[in-house]
Amino acid sequence: MAKDVVVTEAFHSRGMWLVRGLVKSRSQPDKWHSVVVRMARRGNSLIIEAKCDCEAFKYGLACWHVIHLVNVFRRSLKSSHVKGLNS
Ligand SMILES: [Zn+2]
Repeated sequence: MAKDVVVTEAFHSRGMWLVRGLVKSRSQPDKWHSVVVRMARRGNSLIIEAKCDCEAFKYGLACWHVIHLVNVFRRSLKSSHVKGLNS
């Protein structure tokens, strides 16, 4: 797993993943952002609902922290052969 992401909680329920984690800030090295993501597959698309405590997110932007957590989590699912989003 990437060194700038810590997944603190992840569970699968009713076809949906809930993932909580901390993502290291790129501008302030000792700051970590708290991110919560809900993910579900709908046909061929992935529905993502996310929340982050950074500045960009407050202005309604899809921030890098959310994208990074999603990517790292999906990669870890693939490598651990857990059935879920990739199945
Ligand atoms: Zn953010």
